[in-house]
Amino acid sequence: MSIDRAGLNALMEITSRPELVFVRGQGSWLEDHTGKRYLDFIQGWAVNCLGHNPQAMIDALDRQSRLLINPSPAFYNQPSIDLARRIVESSCFDRVFFANSGAEANEGAIKLARKWGQLHRKGAYKIITFDHSFHGRTLATMSASGKAGWDTKFAPQVDGFPKADLNDLDSVRALIDDRTVAVMLEPVQGEAGVIPATREFLQSLRALTREHGLLLIVDEVQTGMARTGRMYAYQHAGIEPDIMTLGKGIGGGVPLAALCAREPVCCFEHGDQGGTYNGNPLMTAVGAAIFDVLAAPGFLDEVNARAQQLSAGLTALSDKWGMRGERGLGLLRALIMDRDDGPALVQAARERAPEGLLLNAPRGNLLRFMPALNVTAGEIDTLLAWLDELLVQVRR
Ligand SMILES: *Cc1c(COP(=O)(O)O)cnc(C)c1O
Repeated sequence: MSIDRAGLNALMEITSRPELVFVRGQGSWLEDHTGKRYLDFIQGWAVNCLGHNPQAMIDALDRQSRLLINPSPAFYNQPSIDLARRIVESSCFDRVFFANSGAEANEGAIKLARKWGQLHRKGAYKIITFDHSFHGRTLATMSASGKAGWDTKFAPQVDGFPKADLNDLDSVRALIDDRTVAVMLEPVQGEAGVIPATREFLQSLRALTREHGLLLIVDEVQTGMARTGRMYAYQHAGIEPDIMTLGKGIGGGVPLAALCAREPVCCFEHGDQGGTYNGNPLMTAVGAAIFDVLAAPGFLDEVNARAQQLSAGLTALSDKWGMRGERGLGLLRALIMDRDDGPALVQAARERAPEGLLLNAPRGNLLRFMPALNVTAGEIDTLLAWLDELLVQVRR
């Protein structure tokens, strides 16, 4: 199959993409237009939690698409009820609003916190977020993000997102004033390069927010749905946040996200929140099917076993090549290299023959690994062996 260049050029240019068209996926493998196969350790940016085209998703799409696709968000539908109950019963949250993307779920969290501030905190609206954080690409979520340069892009920004430093409680305390309503963070900063908030930091942040009557919002768009070896990453710290957002893995590859909140925070009035596709049964049926696989007995044990294998393998590779080690939580991990050959490794991995390897370098000296949660031990061994070969090639 050749590339339809006129068609390709009809797509708006938003990022640099390799001259490849992916046509097929199965588990941890993708196939391009020439028939070349790739071992995929990106998985749509930690989205395809069960790999490409898992049977549970195919069955749910098939079943639900024959039953009902969109009765309108003005009416209840069974799959959204099923998925909301699963999330509520597996977490500390009481109610769920379904969205179509992580950014949209975060917008909802910001709106909910501001509404709560209007009702209970004399109009307080500021949400403390963190340097290097990533919360999405809408105007408000870009403003909430701590990515360098994002405070001047598309100015004027949405006001009210002062930035603290991750794992530095004093930097949070210093920003609190009577206009502050919440603190929002990723339990593991993903786009920043897989930087976990420590258990101690999360616990003292929960205590600090309680002390000041502030909401604690966890953005679990990347860390939720078993990615870190627990169903939700906040559970590692033994805390109970007030609001949580989910995305990515919750749909296993289809567009689905969620805004979850504890009952006292659920203060939206009719008309405050909604959307044409929100909670549609086609996507939520997939979400419920995916959830049941993640929640099945033994699934998290397997995730943790593979995470240990990956962590040990990356540590060995780091030792062998004189790198700076690895870090992460569960199957969201990063290798910290001693030089900036991340982009060269990503390219060499993709161009590897006969089979390629898909990797992500969020920073020059960093490789991030986000495999399917059901990746096999053999696939991790393959990744580690190929990475070693690629290092020989790139550093020769
Ligand atoms: C990916 C991501 C988002 C944005 O999700 P989209 O579905 O791309 O809008 C928000 N927060 C975190 C932590 C993410 O990783």
